[in-house]
Amino acid sequence: MILILSSASLSGCFSSEEILEERYGVPGGLVLACLDSSQYKKLVVEVDYEENQKPTQETLDLMIERLESACEKESVSYELYLTDFNHDGSWSDEEIRFKGRETRQKNAMDGDELRFHLMFPSGYHSNENVLGVAVDATTVMVFNDRIKESENLIRRPSWQDIETSVTIHELGHLLGLVNLVYTSDVDHEDPDHPGHSSNEESVMYWAIESSDISNIIFGTLPNDFDIDDKNDLQKLKDRILKADNQLWYPDNYHQ
Ligand SMILES: [Zn+2]
Repeated sequence: MILILSSASLSGCFSSEEILEERYGVPGGLVLACLDSSQYKKLVVEVDYEENQKPTQETLDLMIERLESACEKESVSYELYLTDFNHDGSWSDEEIRFKGRETRQKNAMDGDELRFHLMFPSGYHSNENVLGVAVDATTVMVFNDRIKESENLIRRPSWQDIETSVTIHELGHLLGLVNLVYTSDVDHEDPDHPGHSSNEESVMYWAIESSDISNIIFGTLPNDFDIDDKNDLQKLKDRILKADNQLWYPDNYHQ
């Protein structure tokens, strides 16, 4: 009791930065910061990859294209960093959160920059079926070792195509898809897989991030949001749909 009281009285001595700890939020927690350009003019995606895990140029290019069409930004760009994640064994979501904070170059909200953080380490998620995961408002991990193993014998889809779709899928979760921080006025969330699209032609279809993917979808994988996903984003931007759990709200946004 004494300890609690004394630390409470001490808190007045700390600077405001120390008291106002950075909040990390939930996936979708910065969708308004992405859709609105009043504060954040630029979107930068930090891509940290371990040796032999670098995402393909196709993945990087399509990531920029998808974010450019979803978010209202003067520029969308990426920064690549060869990174030693210094991690043994499988990754739990909690370890991913901490490693993300340890390895990123800057805070998620940095001046006029909004920063997403993608990690491509070696190794596997603690749930071995998982190909990629979004763990907070800006942090994504993609498991290329597992993606390479999830190719089927005829390589249709190829691991490169799976990597691209998984990456776009996880970015979709950072944009709040589907129904993560809002409730769509269109019924397109898969009741059996919450947070995912019921349309297998949307990149937000649940199987995209599952290692069963090449047994479920043959040939061409979706790597774009479908019309319902896009309409959700447009309605969030137009404030027809309300966004909850946001780390940042535009001025005059009635929560
Ligand atoms: Zn997902």
